[in-house]
Amino acid sequence: MSTNQPSVPDARFISATEDDVLSQRADRPEEACGVIAVYAPDEDVARLTYFGLHALQHRGQESAGIAVGDGETVMVTKDLGLVSQVFKESDLDSLPGKLAIGHTRYSTTGSSTSWENAQPHLSAIGHQVIALAHNGNLVNTTELRDQLKSGNGARFRSTTDSEVIATLVGHYTQEHSSIRAGIRETMKLIRGAYAVVVITEEAIYAFRDPYGIRPLVLGKLDGVGYAVSSETCGLDIMGAEFLRDVAPGEMIRISDKGLEAEQAVPAEQLSLCMFEMIYFARPDSVLNDCTIYEARRRMGERLAAEAPVEADMVMGVPDSGIPAAVGYAQGSGIPFGEGLVKNRYVGRTFISPNDYLRQQGIRLKLNPLRHAIEGKRLIVTDDSIVRGNTSRKLVQLLRDAGATEVHMRITSPPVGWPCFFGIDTDSQEQLIASNHSIEEIREFIGADSLAYLSEQGMVESTGAPAEQYCMGCFNGTYPIEIPEAVRRGKLALESSCGTPKSE
Ligand code: SF4
Repeated sequence: MSTNQPSVPDARFISATEDDVLSQRADRPEEACGVIAVYAPDEDVARLTYFGLHALQHRGQESAGIAVGDGETVMVTKDLGLVSQVFKESDLDSLPGKLAIGHTRYSTTGSSTSWENAQPHLSAIGHQVIALAHNGNLVNTTELRDQLKSGNGARFRSTTDSEVIATLVGHYTQEHSSIRAGIRETMKLIRGAYAVVVITEEAIYAFRDPYGIRPLVLGKLDGVGYAVSSETCGLDIMGAEFLRDVAPGEMIRISDKGLEAEQAVPAEQLSLCMFEMIYFARPDSVLNDCTIYEARRRMGERLAAEAPVEADMVMGVPDSGIPAAVGYAQGSGIPFGEGLVKNRYVGRTFISPNDYLRQQGIRLKLNPLRHAIEGKRLIVTDDSIVRGNTSRKLVQLLRDAGATEVHMRITSPPVGWPCFFGIDTDSQEQLIASNHSIEEIREFIGADSLAYLSEQGMVESTGAPAEQYCMGCFNGTYPIEIPEAVRRGKLALESSCGTPKSE
């Protein structure tokens, strides 16, 4: 394990931008991507994949794509936008096949508008076409890309690390005349977080980094085939039965020969991203043997014990704060109530950030239930505070709706370090907890009180030991050593599905 200590800038408060909800950078961690794969020769694999992508839409809303293998070749349809925007009936009808992969992508600025960066990524190995979809972020992309360019004359169409993975797989597949060997050799070289699905015309391959930072699960379509998904909710929507996690360092192949699994590279200590548990994963998903809803409910219950306060009602910030509010209410005996309604269908894609819309601010996402809030002392549970601007607006929104007191309770410890594994948590100086005390943050967001869940409380709520999680953004200890240039935020490449980095 490597520990990267933060440098603490002495800036006073981070200036509140006009509106983080609508700005290009949302004021909370943003998810990396969702991947899915289906092997079902006698079924409509494109539609099954489409449904799976709908269930994984929360993991990325910038682009979506499906690639299908029909026994002879691989075809892909992808575009910018939500799953429902990208695919029409006719698109799915034109993707017949027996196996498929799908991808939803998250990205923050600029290149999110690049079609080339949308996935699945299509490439050729000699006469064979493969498609690849990736969730996560490599930390040695620049090095690998430079080697491929200078040593192998590789040329890149996109700015993603996924294309680097695809190029490596292609190179080593040709060298060893085997895709399995190509993936195995690639896994030995790439470092970072990755959950990858690949299809050829006749087989699916799925592989996960040796630390298991990003989730990847395997399911069975009874009598029909197999499915792989970032989360179990992607299996559920297809009617697939959850079999097991894809193990860290494991490669799975699914074809007419059935399911074949091998330990492609040695497994390291499992280091699942803790943010999956507190925020990213859907509450109905099961990760690390734990139902996400239950983990979040227990986090709220624990918060009630660690940070009690007198109040009239407990409410959560939708969606991830709701189970925690239920738990806090159960733990404290203070009634639970709904105080905010989420405007679910207002996507960033549709909002041009003009002045009028900026003035509407957080109201475009959340609308307070005035009758439930007015005259009440509120306990408000939320999953994290990144820059603090959204929490500040939220507190003001609740006060404007008549709350007499607002007590913020956060179901994670302060986020003081950035993420290097495909989660957009801002650079360190922009993280309010990296250079401010809890009292300063409370003052900034304007709450009557503010308390964070302890690291121990967060871990115990998941039912698994601390060693099984990456908690780098909470304590600066990362499972993989982060190269100095990357730590300084000087990555020369943009992640395929995470924090963009400047060229
Ligand atoms: S640093 Fe934080 S967000 Fe990134 S993988 Fe680790 S726990 Fe998840």
